[in-house]
Amino acid sequence: MKIKAQIAMVMNLDKCIGCHTCSITCKTAWTNRPGAEYIWFNNVETKPGIGYPKKWEDQDIYKGGWELRKGKLELKAGTKLNKMAWGKIFYNPDMPEIKDFYEPWTYDYENLTLTGEVQHSPVARPKSVITGERMDVQWGPNWEDDLAGGHVIGPQDPNMKKIEEEIKFSFEQAFMVYLPRICEHCLNPGCVASCPSGAMYKRDEDGIVLVDQEACRGWRYCTTGCPYKKVYFNWKTNKAEKCTFCYPRIESGTPTICSETCVGRLRYLGVLLYDADKVLEAASTEDEKGLYQAHCDLFLDPHDPAVIEQARKDGISEEWIEGAQNSPVYKLAIEYKLAFPLHPEYRTLPMVWYVPPLSPIMNYFEGKDSINNPDMIFPAIEEMRVPIDYLANLLTAGDAKPVKEALQKMAMMRMYMRADSSGKQFDE
Ligand code: SF4
Ligand code: SF4
Repeated sequence: MKIKAQIAMVMNLDKCIGCHTCSITCKTAWTNRPGAEYIWFNNVETKPGIGYPKKWEDQDIYKGGWELRKGKLELKAGTKLNKMAWGKIFYNPDMPEIKDFYEPWTYDYENLTLTGEVQHSPVARPKSVITGERMDVQWGPNWEDDLAGGHVIGPQDPNMKKIEEEIKFSFEQAFMVYLPRICEHCLNPGCVASCPSGAMYKRDEDGIVLVDQEACRGWRYCTTGCPYKKVYFNWKTNKAEKCTFCYPRIESGTPTICSETCVGRLRYLGVLLYDADKVLEAASTEDEKGLYQAHCDLFLDPHDPAVIEQARKDGISEEWIEGAQNSPVYKLAIEYKLAFPLHPEYRTLPMVWYVPPLSPIMNYFEGKDSINNPDMIFPAIEEMRVPIDYLANLLTAGDAKPVKEALQKMAMMRMYMRADSSGKQFDE
């Protein structure tokens, strides 16, 4: 057994209000530069939705020039890397293009503010920051957030009754979830495996995945090799860039900027100890539904004296051992099993965990004297507005059981806390 330490994050999806403060503070700190305009190390998606880049969940590393062999990402037989040296991309067919992210635009602010008095408000057509040409904006990060719609029914519409019923049905069925995303700082990172120049690396001391800007040759294999599409290409420097987990802040004991500024206070940071010798075995788990469990089994109990002793032998500092013992990530993801990895079926063993959203379910209890009746929770979970199968596809490779159990635990806890604060009794 070889113990390593990993910094990880839990995000509680119930609390995200989609305000994008995290994205903006991250941009201001890290990508507020020419060449990086379209790059959002942190973005917030409205799910189910197309995402950023478009359809990133439909792209998979089984296609194109890559395949997984025993959990390891490797180039398909016959793929020759040296062809890349001539500047042509022969074996990188799944690479998202700028149109899959969006073409960044700006306005002539000078003309807007310095224009003389006019009858109507000035209307400015945006222009591309890449080409400088005027453009029609058709897509942007989380465009779907602005595209919600419905029907307007005229009073004389003969089909009004029918349409009303249909709309009522469709709106009752409608659901959405905000999904904040950063790089997953995976234990088995596809970006590192696919980088031919060794520029992409995973730090030994804390597991943060970074790009060595000196070594990067701009081949963009990392962008195709990352199933989460979280490596970007800076069109000015011709180098790859990605979320750094705010490593200078982490090194000085402060949280990542997205965590510190999150309006919903939904991001928890913590240390996990894991058995590095078992990473490839876990990533190779044959049964997809077993992947989530294999993922969890990698993490070691930081209170176990044998684990502590081995961790010391493997060079983990006392500070990090203590961090693992007090880690909210260990508690939420491993001990309580309330937080899950995003798309574990991608097999890169992602290190950002999500607590599934429960909120809409609480409406079920409103107005009912349910506080004394925890049995009501179980049928209510079945009727949840966000389908459990959808959450399971997002978080546990389709295994609905752990998601359902987590939701049940959280509903019970909420009812208990409400009963406690309202002075009512809660029957255990
Ligand atoms: Fe690399 Fe992508 Fe994993 Fe981040 S999410 S570590 S970029 S494979
Ligand atoms: Fe969600 Fe927090 Fe980001 Fe706002 S700042 S969008 S609440 S994760």
